[in-house]
Amino acid sequence: MLRLFHFYYADYNFYLCYMLDYLVVGLGIAGVTFCETLEKNGKSFNVISDASQISSQVAAGMYNPVILKRFSLTWKALDQMEMVVPFYANLENKLKVKLDYKLKVVRRFASIEEQNLWFEASDKKGLQHFLSSHLLANENANIDAPYGFGEVLNTGRINTKLLLDSYKSYLVKKGWFKNETFEHDRLEQTDSGITYGEINAKNVIFAEGFGLHNNPYFNYLPLTGTKGELLTIKAPALKETLAIKSSIFIIPFGEDLYKVGATYKWKDKTNIPTQEAKDELLKKLETFLKCDYKVIDHVAGIRPTVTDRRPLVGRHPEHKNFYVLNGFGSRGIMVGPYASNQLYNAIENNEPIAAEMNVERFRKKYTTV
Ligand SMILES: Cc1cc2nc3c(=O)[nH]c(=O)nc-3n(C[C@H](O)[C@H](O)[C@H](O)COP(=O)(O)OP(=O)(O)OC[C@H]3O[C@@H](n4cnc5c(N)ncnc54)[C@H](O)[C@@H]3O)c2cc1C
Repeated sequence: MLRLFHFYYADYNFYLCYMLDYLVVGLGIAGVTFCETLEKNGKSFNVISDASQISSQVAAGMYNPVILKRFSLTWKALDQMEMVVPFYANLENKLKVKLDYKLKVVRRFASIEEQNLWFEASDKKGLQHFLSSHLLANENANIDAPYGFGEVLNTGRINTKLLLDSYKSYLVKKGWFKNETFEHDRLEQTDSGITYGEINAKNVIFAEGFGLHNNPYFNYLPLTGTKGELLTIKAPALKETLAIKSSIFIIPFGEDLYKVGATYKWKDKTNIPTQEAKDELLKKLETFLKCDYKVIDHVAGIRPTVTDRRPLVGRHPEHKNFYVLNGFGSRGIMVGPYASNQLYNAIENNEPIAAEMNVERFRKKYTTV
C-alpha cells in the first residue's frame, strides 16, 4: 500500500518517516508464505533475513496429508490441502518458475497385515479422499516390494530451493529485502508500531524457524527442533517415477537423481551433515533398493518442531505489534499458506487463530522480558 511514497536507494528501500505495514524477519517457507499473503492483500512490507537456518532450503518439499506410519490424516489436512495447489500455482505464475511437481507418493507394504490396515484406513472419513483403495503392484525390478504399495492421492513436491531463491530475487528487485541478521535489541516499540534502524512498520512478524531461540521476545515458546538429513543419489538404472515411502523416502528429482531421507535427531542442533546419518539412511535404503547408486550430495537442517506438534502462531503476550509464525515442523509446505492466512486475518480482520496453533496456549510459560 502506498509504495508511491518509498524512496528507492540502491537495492534497498530507504524510509524517511514512512510507515510500512509489516516488517518480516526470516525468509524460509514461513516468511515466503506470509509475504505472499501480504502482497495479495496490498500490504507494504520489508524482509530481513540471513542464512543461519536452512530447513526450507534443504527440505524435500513434499506435500502429503497422510501420516504414512500410522495411516492417519495430518492436523487440518483437508483445510490445508485446499490451499496448497492454488497457492503455489500463484507463485509459479508470479515468479515465472516451475515449482509444483505432481508426484505419486506410495507406501511400500512390509506385510499382508500392513496391506489390511491400509485398506481399513482407506474407508475412513476424510482418509478416503487421499488413500487409494487399490493395491499397486511393484513393476520395478530394482525395487524390492513383494507386498506392493498403497497410493496416496493428490500429492506432490515443491522445489523449495528454487522457490526461496526466486522469491528472494523478486524481493531484491523490488527493494524490499535486506540480507542481514536481525538484532533484536535494536527493535523498538512505538505508539504506532515498531522501528528498527531506519524502518518504521506497524507490525513485526518473526518467522525465524529454529532461530527463534535467539529471539528474546518469543524464546519462551517450546520450540524443540529436530535435525533432519537428506542424501541425493544418482541411480541411472532405477528409472522410478514414484516417491516411495518405506522406513525412509526415496523421491525422484529427475535426471536419475533421487532424494533419500530423512533422519530425525533431537540432540544435535547444527546444520552439519553427519556420517552417522548417512550410514543410517543408506542401510535403510539398501533394504529395498537393488541397483547401483552413487551419493552425490548430503544436507542437514533443523525442522522447527514443537512439543505438542502444532505450529506457533500469534501475538506476543505484551508487545501488541510483535507476532510469531513458526513451528511448521516437518510439514512447512502444507502448513505455510494455511497458518499465514490465519495470522493475517487475525491481525487485519480480528479473526480467531485456530486454538491448537495459537501461542496463547503457552501463555503460562511467559515471564516478562
Ligand atoms: C531434511 C528435511 C526434509 C524436509 N522435508 C520436508 C518436506 O518434504 N515437506 C515439508 O513440508 N517440509 C519438510 N521439511 C520441513 C520444512 O523444511 C520446515 O517445515 C520449514 O522449512 C520451516 O520453515 P521456516 O520458514 O519456519 O524456517 P526456516 O526454513 O528455518 O527459515 C527461517 C529463516 O529465518 C532466518 N533467520 C533466523 N533468525 C534470523 C535472524 N535473527 N535474522 C535474520 N534472519 C533470521 C533463517 O536464516 C532462515 O532463512 C523438511 C525439513 C528437513 C530438515
